[in-house]
Amino acid sequence: MSFFENTWLYAIKLVKGVMYQLYSSSNLTDSRVRTMNKHPISKSGKFILYWMTSCRRFAYNASLQHAVSLSNLLNKPILVVEAVSITHKFANDRILSFMVQGIMDNIIDFSEKSVSYIPWVEIKQKAGSKMLASLAEESTCVVIDDYPTYTPSKIRDAAAKNLQVRVDAVDSNGIFPMKWAEKEFTTAYSFRKYVQKNLLDAFQTIPSKDPTEHKNRNITVSEEIISDLKKNIGFESTPLEWLWRVSEGGDVGNQAMEEFPIDHTVPAVTSKGGVNEARIRLQKFLNYRLNKYSTNRNDPDKPAVSGLSPWLHFGHISSYEIIHNVLRKENWNPNSLNHEDTGKGTRTGWWGVSESSSSFLDQIITWRELGFNFAYNRDDHATVETIPNWAKLSMKEHINDDRTIYSLTELERAETHDEIWNAAQRELLRTGQMHNYMRMLWGKKILEWSPSPEIAAENMIYINDKWALDGRDPNSYTGIFWVLGRHDRAWGPERPIFGKVRYMSSESAYRKLKLKNYLQKYAKDENITLAKYG
Ligand SMILES: Cc1cc2nc3c(=O)[nH]c(=O)nc-3n(C[C@H](O)[C@H](O)[C@H](O)COP(=O)(O)OP(=O)(O)OC[C@H]3O[C@@H](n4cnc5c(N)ncnc54)[C@H](O)[C@@H]3O)c2cc1C
Repeated sequence: MSFFENTWLYAIKLVKGVMYQLYSSSNLTDSRVRTMNKHPISKSGKFILYWMTSCRRFAYNASLQHAVSLSNLLNKPILVVEAVSITHKFANDRILSFMVQGIMDNIIDFSEKSVSYIPWVEIKQKAGSKMLASLAEESTCVVIDDYPTYTPSKIRDAAAKNLQVRVDAVDSNGIFPMKWAEKEFTTAYSFRKYVQKNLLDAFQTIPSKDPTEHKNRNITVSEEIISDLKKNIGFESTPLEWLWRVSEGGDVGNQAMEEFPIDHTVPAVTSKGGVNEARIRLQKFLNYRLNKYSTNRNDPDKPAVSGLSPWLHFGHISSYEIIHNVLRKENWNPNSLNHEDTGKGTRTGWWGVSESSSSFLDQIITWRELGFNFAYNRDDHATVETIPNWAKLSMKEHINDDRTIYSLTELERAETHDEIWNAAQRELLRTGQMHNYMRMLWGKKILEWSPSPEIAAENMIYINDKWALDGRDPNSYTGIFWVLGRHDRAWGPERPIFGKVRYMSSESAYRKLKLKNYLQKYAKDENITLAKYG
């Protein structure tokens, strides 16, 4: 633990006036671990299996730290398998290559700490569940990441249902353990109040930078056990040479992925997955953009954002690592908190840091974790059932309003009359990312151009989950259903199609932001006409 972290935790003890243990695994176990089934630990098992599905990193990994606690208790080594599924709706070159690039960093990080880490890419569809079942039979118990959406949540639930040993799901997602809040928060304001009241306690549950620091035995799985697994159940690491080729990208990467039954029409992008790239980008953000976050965040021409959502989504970097660096830059300590504001739900001010850092922390904690809280508590988080009644009723009253309708194909191909919207869609197609402000506009226009809110939601989810590196995330559904009124209030004046749901237009985006560079960068060709927005 770094000096900064030690002094910080010490200060928390003083501020709270309670004799906390310095960070301990029991804080983590109580707050971040759920035992998912009733099967006992298998004493004859050869190792503790950590089947990694979403927290794809070494540092600040609560699952790994929990596996180490179990290893101390049961005197068994740990086998970490980073599993890459291709059995999901949006398996494509973009997602696969980004994950494999993350694996290349993990191979080094885990080996430096002598943790038995095996990357395993599903070669054939549906091979993953069989391999997990076979490995589980050889294990004492299974540790799996607790992630509330898409494939990782399905794998977690299937493991709990089908495996014959104990399955512990562990939450490394954010500052706030998902299981703390007993229900979903419907507004950012109410969640922010919860954040303010519980922040210092939540910091006590953060896993260590080195999750193996408290190991009391050799946790490495012997060569003999590994070769038995190879012989008995055909388990082997995915060949390094293949992983290397995929991670190289370009033609080499494309050829390596060619044989896989995945969608090759969504190509890999130049942004590189993995913790090393995430840390480089974090440093650039801290050095050059964070101080402009509150003023330039919404301007796609002068972006002051971190761009880190894909790395957060794949678990290549912990949100805590980002927050920790922001607070260190601010020389923050718990005494900096403005106690008069704490618990009132005010957006900035209460942290006792600069306006820019404050508004960044509000996004990465309040808004990001609102999504995790919602998805964790609502199985229907990706449906229109979750939008508030006032929004449902208001849009229903306007269902017969005249509108231009674009099909999913037209939207996906960026073939609308609106060149600002097309540019945003092209940014997504080409880079796998979209600037936040453009993303809000992108969603609002899809609502305007769809026959119903249900179809708008379906189309947004399809395009975002397919093309965005950070898609399929709790925040995907926060953003998409925010477009339809979730986590928002009613607005006036009432508008056609939108009713009381917040409205946005390309014309006003153009008036406010000009978007000169953005439109040029994501133009279909050089000669786009801007005049019509003026
Ligand atoms: C229609 C729509 C779809 C969206 N889909 C996704 C998605 O698939 N995945 C995704 O991570 N975010 C999504 N968002 C939220 C937001 O647009 C992105 O999180 C943000 O643009 C990511 O860029 P950044 O990393 O530069 O963010 P920064 O501004 O640098 O913020 C840092 C981090 O804070 C979190 N954050 C920032 N803004 C928001 C927000 N409004 N809501 C929730 N968390 C936020 C993200 O984790 C982000 O990486 C969506 C928003 C909308 C309106």
